[in-house]
Amino acid sequence: MTLLRDPLLNKGTAFTEQERAALGLRGLLPPCVLTMQDQAERVLINLRNLPSDLEKYVALNALHDRNEALFFRVVCDNIDEIQPLIYTPTVGLACQKYGLIFQRPRGMFISSRDRGQIAELLKNWPYPAKLIVVTDGERILGLGDLGANGMGIPVGKLSLYSACAGVHPEQCLPIVLDVGTNNEELLRDPYYLGLRERRLAGEAYDSFVDEFMQAARKTFPGVLIQFEDFANHSAFKLLHKYRDEACVFNDDIQGTAAVALAGLFSALRVNGSKLRDQRILFLGAGEAATGIADLVVSAMMAEGASEAEALGRNWLVDSRGLVVKGRAGLSGHKLRYAHDHGQIADFLAAIETLKPTAIIGVAAVGGAFTPDVLKAMAKLNAHPIVFALSNPTSKAECSAEDAYRYTEGRALFACGSPYDPVTLGGRTFVPRQGNNSYIFPGVGLGVIASRSRLVTDEMFMAAAHSLADCVGKDDLDQGSLYPALPRIREVSARIAAAVAQVAYQRGLAEGPAPNDVMGLIRSQMYEPHY
Ligand code: NAP
Ligand code: MN
Repeated sequence: MTLLRDPLLNKGTAFTEQERAALGLRGLLPPCVLTMQDQAERVLINLRNLPSDLEKYVALNALHDRNEALFFRVVCDNIDEIQPLIYTPTVGLACQKYGLIFQRPRGMFISSRDRGQIAELLKNWPYPAKLIVVTDGERILGLGDLGANGMGIPVGKLSLYSACAGVHPEQCLPIVLDVGTNNEELLRDPYYLGLRERRLAGEAYDSFVDEFMQAARKTFPGVLIQFEDFANHSAFKLLHKYRDEACVFNDDIQGTAAVALAGLFSALRVNGSKLRDQRILFLGAGEAATGIADLVVSAMMAEGASEAEALGRNWLVDSRGLVVKGRAGLSGHKLRYAHDHGQIADFLAAIETLKPTAIIGVAAVGGAFTPDVLKAMAKLNAHPIVFALSNPTSKAECSAEDAYRYTEGRALFACGSPYDPVTLGGRTFVPRQGNNSYIFPGVGLGVIASRSRLVTDEMFMAAAHSLADCVGKDDLDQGSLYPALPRIREVSARIAAAVAQVAYQRGLAEGPAPNDVMGLIRSQMYEPHY
């Protein structure tokens, strides 16, 4: 019975007659022995009959809790259909409804009440974690502070690690640091499952996170820790505090940067220009925007631009307008991009003045790329680059259809959450997701496989190049700036090999470089079968 209740070992109706006899399962299962294929078909039939995406999310979660191999088989074989259900956009809704849909816990909940005992708590985790995705729930997607309900995000990210890069589920540990929430609605919500108090701040917050960091590294030596969906005042601070001493990265800053840069490389293949000649205007000046801008600057410099030239080609618009030199109260991460220029209050006016070749939306302001914005970009450029990267779909700067319609089909478009193909003027465009889900699974796998001590920007640059290299001419011809999702395991393996290569070259890896890095990567990839 214990076996049937252990999702890592359970095969349900697929236990064979011999296994049933040997493992004391006779009488505990219906007589029919199914194959994994039969089981997967049943799952899909049931799933497709459910009326809403949230119900599908709940059903998939229940399967995950019952039978991990079958869950990952279904995800891997139907990634286009399932990823949007276990990741953005549905995971956003699931986090908002988390208190209501909660069935079984997954991962660990560490709250500020556990101060002083976090190391002890972590010992309750029964598996040898190699990869932790941790959030404090303060900026979940573009939905704001969802407190402990943010647990859906680390769970979803880690599901993609196993599905898209074959990191073994047993090595994955989702964690929410519950430091309270400032979301009034949640504080009043009778079904909210987190601490019903305001967020820890200042020194108390820093020392709590630090206790967690030390405890996690001691309990799981060498563990890779991914910071996810922290508010930006914490995100930059934590990344800078730990990146040179621990194996950590911030997905919203660094993962997003790599996926956006890869998308830019693809777009430039279509419009035949160089990165160093682009003028990029960001809507948003937070983790995603400055993360992307920093990596773009490095890539422009690799093409021969000076740092000053490269910086001068990247401009940010935040909630108070264009980021310019001398503006009062600019936070540290924006300063590199605060150029000498007069104030401009509005995004469209900034486009008309700065004449960008690319606009990148990462402000979580749904609909901010209005028809007028898109038309202005189409007037300025033969092939305007338009990335609407905010999540979930309700926060997207524009839909795929609008991006193509208002630029007469000339936009080179990427979106944070998935959009269906668009047919316009007899041409069908297949937009693909500029989402860090193309990057983090491969990066994590490469870091784990090489047992790298640190995660470096050079690794994200290598990841961006590897991802861009996977985009074929047939992809570009249909408007896709990224490879098809069903190729994701091959893509992740290439990214992982490139990342591991950097770790070996820079002396960050444990042990000597193998002759066949790709062979090492492939040998570590989990395949969901019995
Ligand atoms: P963040 O650090 O909080 O940054 C948000 C930025 O948007 C801030 O600079 C903010 O301005 C700005 N902003 C807010 N309202 C604005 C307005 N009306 N006009 C102009 N700017 C405005 O958040 P983030 O981590 O960068 O994430 C932002 C969005 O990107 C979210 O929707 C997230 O889901 C998405 N994202 C997507 C991916 C992907 O892979 N596609 C990855 C990461 C994030 P202030 O600085 O003035 O407050
Ligand atoms: Mn995120």
